[in-house]
Amino acid sequence: MTISNPAKPPKSHKSAIAPKRGADLMHDPLLNKGTAFTRDERLKLGLLGLLPPQVSTPEEQAERALNNMRKRGSDLEKYIDCLSLLDRNTTLFYQVVMNNIEELMPIIYTPTVGLGCQRYAHIFRRARGIFITRREKGMIRDILRNWTQKDVRVIVVTDGERILGLGDLGANGMGIPVGKLSLYTACGGVPPAQTLPVTLDVGTNNETFLKDPLYLGVHEKRITGAEYDALVEEFVTAVQEVFPQALVQFEDFANHNAFRLLEKYRDAVCCFNDDIQGTASVSLAGLYSAAKLTGKKLSEQVILFHGAGEAAIGIGDLCVSAMVAEGLSKQDAMKRCWFMDSKALVESSRKDLQAHKKPYAHEHAPLGDLLTAVRELKPTALIGVSGKAAQFTEDIVKEMARINKMPVIFALSNPTANAECTAEQAYSWSEGRAIFASGSPFPAYKYDGRTFVSGQGNNAYIFPGVGMGVVACGAKRVTDEMFFEAAKELAACASKDDLAQGCLFPPLSKIVEVSARIAVKTAEVAYKRGLATEPRPKDLLAFVKERQYKPVYPNYA
Ligand code: NAD
Repeated sequence: MTISNPAKPPKSHKSAIAPKRGADLMHDPLLNKGTAFTRDERLKLGLLGLLPPQVSTPEEQAERALNNMRKRGSDLEKYIDCLSLLDRNTTLFYQVVMNNIEELMPIIYTPTVGLGCQRYAHIFRRARGIFITRREKGMIRDILRNWTQKDVRVIVVTDGERILGLGDLGANGMGIPVGKLSLYTACGGVPPAQTLPVTLDVGTNNETFLKDPLYLGVHEKRITGAEYDALVEEFVTAVQEVFPQALVQFEDFANHNAFRLLEKYRDAVCCFNDDIQGTASVSLAGLYSAAKLTGKKLSEQVILFHGAGEAAIGIGDLCVSAMVAEGLSKQDAMKRCWFMDSKALVESSRKDLQAHKKPYAHEHAPLGDLLTAVRELKPTALIGVSGKAAQFTEDIVKEMARINKMPVIFALSNPTANAECTAEQAYSWSEGRAIFASGSPFPAYKYDGRTFVSGQGNNAYIFPGVGMGVVACGAKRVTDEMFFEAAKELAACASKDDLAQGCLFPPLSKIVEVSARIAVKTAEVAYKRGLATEPRPKDLLAFVKERQYKPVYPNYA
């Protein structure tokens, strides 16, 4: 779908009142039209002479922006270019991104955003979002009020401790809330003015950053314990007061905080943790699609997770709910999910297990390595969420292919360099029989006359739609049932043709439509469970689509 944006709107196009004039208008990215301001607008709004005389159409502007970006020598430079456009002209940024989502998602999101975060302090151009440190304790309400937009509906907040699979990046982690929120808009349709990126800069234990004078965060070790909890509590409370309709997405917190914070706040405020719940949903969708190829129901699968953190346990828990929905008892369903952590197999004799792993500590002899675990447990699906690269070795993939006609292999760790194996390895080592998905994208791969276009098992398929659904119906809470329904809907969006080429998800080019369908499912759960605050419209899909953001300039003439 190409979004066209006529420079000269039809006569019927209602004119809007510009809230600013002159240079102030041009320097507000949400209002700026750049060279697309028409002659009439320039005359009316004090812009004459401030722009080159030729009026560009939005299509010409998009072409110029895209050409410039493509000429950059590296992905990091393209990322910087994209963010600069976002900072100058929000509408044009979204027009370019939405019309070229397959090309630009890997730039504005994983994998390039990971590099953008690592280098954040060195490539910094302009601040975006809100930074809160321990020095602002007692002032968080006022800080939130400093944000110029008053109708915030989605906040993505991180404390930067576990950025993608890259570890503690402190305040540099801000690239992630910024990137995720741009997908809330580009994929889900949440208006950009309603989004707010937040970093709780509680310090960093990253020694390289602490020694770097250019590092822009607080040059202190992380605060922990009661002081940390009090800061988060003040932030969550302040959001309820200043932006009472906002959904809070907890993002890239380390797992010792992520599970706790989710438990503490999930029934108290409108929030969720994307690493736990969003990842679970997209993975379950992938498993549902895989089931269509293998002919085996989810409740017949044995799933071995490499990693036992937020993503793994989140996926495990949602798979258990899905297996229970297919008729298994919870106990039997849990027994079909096995986990390896950095030490060994999670099993009942282990005395060192964190609380989130204990429910899955089944009885089994200790097993130290993944290959032995695959041989012993005979999984039908192997899911990599350890953040550690190259863990799915040739031996392991071959063993999966020996015990399964169509082994399900998901290498979900991000960014690309951390993937457990590549698409090429999964297909070639399994002689083209693997059903593969990865967290970051891999190019299409030809094997034995077939072209495999593996899908991106990334939560970007889920959170924008769930977020749009929450915003559309004014949901008071976000529930696991919403992620379950989202998973089913996402799997239903993958066509026979997608599956035939090895892709378990619909193409990204359909993401706006897919997100609208997921938003509907999310809102339906909210209405069913009495969690919606907006009246239910007759046609929910039409209502959501109507509310989805379109990157079209207003007519100020
Ligand atoms: P986490 O820190 O909560 O968990 C990591 C887990 O991996 C821990 O249980 C740890 O013990 C285990 N581990 C570490 N090294 C290991 C090893 N050598 N062998 C076995 N287990 C090992 O992190 P998380 O939030 O679960 O994220 C993990 C990875 O998943 C990251 O790379 C992240 O980018 C990726 N992820 C991908 C998506 C997606 O949409 N594809 C979503 C969320 C997370």
